[in-house]
Amino acid sequence: MSELGLKQRLINKARKRSLWVLPFNSGGCNGCAIELLTCVSPRSDVERFGILVKGSPRHADVLVVDGPVTTKLKDRLLRIYQQMPEPKAVVALGSCPASNGVFDGCYGVAGPLDKIIPVDVWVPGCPPRPEAIIHGITKTMQKIEGLKK
Ligand code: SF4
Repeated sequence: MSELGLKQRLINKARKRSLWVLPFNSGGCNGCAIELLTCVSPRSDVERFGILVKGSPRHADVLVVDGPVTTKLKDRLLRIYQQMPEPKAVVALGSCPASNGVFDGCYGVAGPLDKIIPVDVWVPGCPPRPEAIIHGITKTMQKIEGLKK
């Protein structure tokens, strides 16, 4: 194994255990956002997995999107995704990003999410339970570790 390969593997291993998460509500009812906040409470304590909620896309590894993507927020979501450094992953929270959920057919909805940005993990539910959200975010660890950069 080359020196660069070993170095990259070590970097990826460290990244895997230090996921910084950026939540983004793309127009949902806030139910999923509240469940996501529960994950950072002492009861769930996601920091034991190295997961930290961050407000800046330039520092984030994982983008967690909830709600259907509205036409008003579509361009902002795309811009935020482009601002995130590689390697990055996207988690879709709840049924809204997957199928527009209860907002399907509304005039202002541009989703589903995978029409706009690539999605790595889908977390079902309306809203999903905190355990499911944590499981979804930790699933991105495999992707972050497996990427070259
Ligand atoms: S999936 Fe359900 S709880 Fe989550 S934003 Fe959509 S309607 Fe609200």
